[in-house]
Amino acid sequence: MSRVYNFSAGPAVLPEEVLQSAADEMMDYNGTGMSVMEMSHRSKAFEEIITTAEADLRELMGIPDNYKVLFLQGGASQQFAAIPMNLMKNGVADYIITGQWAKKAAAEAEKYGKVNRIASSEDKTYSYIPDCSDLPVDDDADYVYICENNTIYGTKYKQLPNTKGKILVADVSSCFLSEPVDVTKYGVLYGGVQKNIGPAGTVIVIIREDLIRDDVLPGTPTMLKYKTQADAKSLYNTPPAYGIYICGKVFKWLKKMGGLEVMKERNEKKAQLLYDYLDQSKLFKGTVAKEDRSLMNVPFVTGDKDLDARFVKEAKEAGLENLKGHRTVGGMRASIYNAMPYEGVEALVAFMKKFEEENL
Ligand SMILES: *Cc1c(COP(=O)(O)O)cnc(C)c1O
Repeated sequence: MSRVYNFSAGPAVLPEEVLQSAADEMMDYNGTGMSVMEMSHRSKAFEEIITTAEADLRELMGIPDNYKVLFLQGGASQQFAAIPMNLMKNGVADYIITGQWAKKAAAEAEKYGKVNRIASSEDKTYSYIPDCSDLPVDDDADYVYICENNTIYGTKYKQLPNTKGKILVADVSSCFLSEPVDVTKYGVLYGGVQKNIGPAGTVIVIIREDLIRDDVLPGTPTMLKYKTQADAKSLYNTPPAYGIYICGKVFKWLKKMGGLEVMKERNEKKAQLLYDYLDQSKLFKGTVAKEDRSLMNVPFVTGDKDLDARFVKEAKEAGLENLKGHRTVGGMRASIYNAMPYEGVEALVAFMKKFEEENL
């Protein structure tokens, strides 16, 4: 078996232990004589999988009892529509635009109501998080929306916006379970799991109970109504069963690692190794305002497109995969999610040093 260090932004690296355990259980899950893929989602065995997954997630994040946890399909992008359909009572929402994902979410919400873009960092290619301490929040806004960690640009809110009493809705796809969070600060937080938790195809929505209502926008599909999903405990129809099973294994792995405090320390240590190197490098340069740097996604450039392309190619040959930056930023991006070991970042930095020596 030969595994590479995979710096993909998503779908992304998963803990080897989790993959191994899934492989071991592939033909016969827990004495059932079948794979989880072949199992009824109404079976006892699957009921235990989804119930345990939810309980472990609640424990990891300290999710209060008045929040529901939903395991859904459609990816994070489907939530761009589900959120306004379910939450727009007054037909108004405020969006903070810190990158492509927030921009797309705002454009989708605009189909269902009035969208105010109350702050943006588009003027500097989304390389920073705008000051959100005193924003012009609309009196009628049903919620304030953020993308908390910007996967493409490598920025992260270090402080949540002052929503002036309005509900905060956050897309946490690329920082999910990377550090402790205070769930009570959010009305809704959600993310596609393929960045930091599991395989593509599952999205987790954590929503305060009082926001789950019957009076959603007219025409809201049954499947997109949070109430449908909450009442059915995510089993209104066939859920993304295998994905939920893998998420459950990752939750167990996170608990074994020591929980989200420990993950935060690990993630800080990994990110610091890379950022410290970038800050003194004469060849490579980080693209993001220092105070807003993400612990998960680290974009960097040499300033020379051809050299960037050669770096990505040679890194791949050295077993460091998927370092090409997003097409709108260029250069490189190293995604160093929970499952990326410290040794992976060490290998990357060692390779960058060597490349710098050879090319300066
Ligand atoms: C990847 C990503 C998305 C899109 O996720 P899909 O599951 O592909 O729809 C949305 N938001 C953020 C922050 C992402 O990183």
